[in-house]
Amino acid sequence: MAVQETGVSYYCPTYVEHARRDFQEMLDHNCTAVLLALSEFDLDFWFPNIKAIAEAGKEMGLKVYLDTWGIGKWFGGEPPSLFLTNNPGNRQVSAFTGEPLPACCFNTKAFRDYFFDLCEKLAREVEADGFFWDEPHYALPKGYASITGGAGDDWSCRCPVCQRMFEELYGYEMPRQLTAEVKRFRHDRALDILETASRRIRQIRPASKIICCVHATLGTYYVTENRGYDNWDRVAASEACDVFGTTILSYQLPRTFFRSITERTLAIARKHGKGCQRWLMGYYQEPEDLDEINKIIHLYAELGVESLFAWTYRGGHGTVLAAPRALEVWDTIGRAYGEVLGRK
Ligand SMILES: [Zn+2]
Repeated sequence: MAVQETGVSYYCPTYVEHARRDFQEMLDHNCTAVLLALSEFDLDFWFPNIKAIAEAGKEMGLKVYLDTWGIGKWFGGEPPSLFLTNNPGNRQVSAFTGEPLPACCFNTKAFRDYFFDLCEKLAREVEADGFFWDEPHYALPKGYASITGGAGDDWSCRCPVCQRMFEELYGYEMPRQLTAEVKRFRHDRALDILETASRRIRQIRPASKIICCVHATLGTYYVTENRGYDNWDRVAASEACDVFGTTILSYQLPRTFFRSITERTLAIARKHGKGCQRWLMGYYQEPEDLDEINKIIHLYAELGVESLFAWTYRGGHGTVLAAPRALEVWDTIGRAYGEVLGRK
């Protein structure tokens, strides 16, 4: 299938008149969709303008998706969590040390209620095409490498709530080791909150498209990172996923990895009759030869990916995570988007 959607993420949903100018720039860069990266602060403080901005995006012809960005530090992303600030408890806990971690435990009633309320408010009040589950994961106590690294030893969550739930289900104390039962429990719980949220969203806005984007990891027989969403088969089969996506890759990785991750993403999505989305790094890092970005976009298109997205607008220009040649990266992505959409 040919590329159907080319998008970019967008920070700072503040003033609608500014957003309109930025959306025009996205259209000029051959974007057909925008992902609003919504932090807990944005949602709490800027809600009226988030509604207006989503409406403006739709009016200008973009698909608009809502990214529950960094919420609870359970989703990926840089923003801090208001929930963590306002709640001394309800944190994930390290299995080895018993220390609380800077991430919400999504099995606690307090966090689940908070998250479901946010999702329902967004579904009810914001005119958007769908939701984006952005790299959901259990907190990884230090020792884990990201993207391709092997598994560490410590894990989460072994808070009192998780321990109680585990014991009720399995009839014995939750082990400190990652046994097969602990892994299954973690996977089940990790999907449950997303499935419940997706159901609640669809009850309000049935046409809402739910994109689930997981880390682009090896996830092989020998190396699994145990983020809770590593079993792609289970994630893609889930009702929390209409479109199965995988995250950005570092340009320092070999091109064979770009191909194999994309082939695996596509195979899993197709197996479960879901759409397929691949993400590109459009911030922080760049290849020495920017034309490599163009080639990767063409590779993804040729392999059959329907939805291509880049993180983020203008290559992150003006942020600490800007690509060294941020605006050139952005222009390169825009040109390549035009080519794969057949606009030339
Ligand atoms: Zn817990």
